[in-house]
Order: sequence, then C-alpha cells, then structure tokens
Amino acid sequence: MKLTDVDVLRRLLGDNDFTFRKSLGQNFLIDDTVCPRMADAACAPDTGVLEIGPGVGVLTVELAARARRVVALELDTRLQPILARTLADCPNASVVFGDAMKLDLRALLADAFADCARVTVCANLPYYITSPLLLRLLEERLPVASITVLVQREAAERLAAPVGTRAAGAVSVAVEYYSAPSLLFPVSRTAFLPQPKVDSAVLHLAVREKPPVELKDEAHFFALVKAGFAQRRKTLCNALSGALGLEKAQVAAALDALGLPPTARIEQLSLAELAALDDRLSAPPA
Ligand code: SAM
Repeated sequence: MKLTDVDVLRRLLGDNDFTFRKSLGQNFLIDDTVCPRMADAACAPDTGVLEIGPGVGVLTVELAARARRVVALELDTRLQPILARTLADCPNASVVFGDAMKLDLRALLADAFADCARVTVCANLPYYITSPLLLRLLEERLPVASITVLVQREAAERLAAPVGTRAAGAVSVAVEYYSAPSLLFPVSRTAFLPQPKVDSAVLHLAVREKPPVELKDEAHFFALVKAGFAQRRKTLCNALSGALGLEKAQVAAALDALGLPPTARIEQLSLAELAALDDRLSAPPA
C-alpha cells in the first residue's frame, strides 16, 4: 500500500472514519522521498529504532525495512486498526499506545532493544511537544545514539543554532551540551496532509557520550542559562543579578576574569564561556 499516495491515504482514513486532530499535531507525510531519507539517517545494521507518533505507519515501514526492530509510540488509539493493517507485513515493528511524554522510556528501551547493537530515535514529531520531548530524551540520558526528527523549520533552526549566535536560545545550549546537531534537509509544507502553515526540516542529533564541557552542577548551569535567555536583551549583569539573586559586581567580576566586558549578553557567549561563567558564579564564597 503506497501510504504517501493521497488517494490511498484518504481511502484508508475514510474506511476507518478517521478525522485529523490538530491538537495532536496530526499532519501526515505524503511525500515519498522524506521517509526513506530519514530512515537512512537513523538506521545502521542491528539498530533498534524508537519512533514517536507513527500515524498510519508511513515512516514505520521504511524503518522496519532497515532496522532490526522498531517500536512506535502512538497516543491516538483510533489509529490502532489502521496500523494493524499497514504494518501487517512488518513483523519486526510493534506499536505501543501511550503518551511519549509520560511512558517509562528507559524501561521500554531496555525491554525492546536488548539484542540491538544501538538504539536510535526517529520521528515526524507532533509540533506541540517538539522541545519538551527532545529535552526529555536528552536530559534523561537515555541510551540512544542519535535522534532524527522532522520538526517545524523555525524550531529546527533554533534547536541547531550554534551557542554564541543570535539564533540560539536556552534549548540550543541543552542540545549542544548533550549532542552534535545538524540540519539534514528542508521539507516543504506541501509534503503533508493536511498542509500546515509553515515549512519543516529534518534535524539530526548525534548524542554525545560525554558533554564537551565539564560542569560542577548541571542544575545550576541550566538555571543560569534559562535566566540569561529569559532576558536575552539585557546584559548578563542585569539579567543574572535579578534572577539568581547575585550582586551585579559579582557577575561583572566573573565576566572580567573570562576576558568579557560587563556589557556582555548571553547570546554572545560560547558553551565553554557559559560553563566557565557558571563555574565562577556557583563557587562557594571565599
Ligand atoms: N509519522 C506519521 C507521518 O509522518 O505521517 C505521523 C506524524 S504526525 C506529525 C504526529 C503523530 O504523533 C500523530 O500520529 C499523533 O497522533 C502522534 N502523537 C501526538 N502526540 C503524541 C504523544 N504525546 N505521544 C505519542 N504520539 C503522539
């Protein structure tokens, strides 16, 4: 069954009285070039793939053709009869119904992929959970080698923006800390049914075994990053003193020790500079 053929897809959905739910980010792929390219990026021999949001299984079948095993998490149980049909010829693919934000992913990965050489994540993500889900996958330090996701283009650009550039945000710092991001290819809005208002892009995150900077206290570092970006137009002296209860002079002295001016804004600092600043500001007073 050619699931990217609009007539085939409409008939399949119609046969099952399925109507799209915007609240679940249901925009299904109808471009037959996207899924094979995503699956190629996500699969090496003996890979176990966790897919989030299979929809009618258009990406799932491409993953199943390349991976050792695919487990797809889907929130919408109305898709159950459809997936039973579209995945009938994929014995190495199974679907778990539940919320990807709530399921115990560590236990699920350990259970499902014990005999796989590596585990990756691949998904056309529902737009409303893009950042929280990616942060969850990274912050929980799940045993995942890479994450290949189709997301709104603006989100992809923000997530992959190098820290120290204007395009970066707090989420880019987390992405760069836990992974090496790259934008793989753009995907036009015309590749989806129903058609969304914006274009998309495929983002690849190669998860790091070890972060590129050493932190004394990750929670303190990310609180500082969040505080800085929450008021990104302000100088770090003003943004951090207010939010973290520090003296402006203390922030200025820490910046000065790193060779940075007291007027520096958070978007001007690299990951290494942010880590060094946090190191100085989290040190117990002498
Ligand atoms: N993979 C399909 C494709 O490319 O055509 C569907 C992608 S569609 C953008 C997102 C899918 O995620 C939908 O099937 C939706 O029901 C599902 N979904 C939404 N929220 C979810 C959640 N919290 N957990 C798991 N799946 C979810």
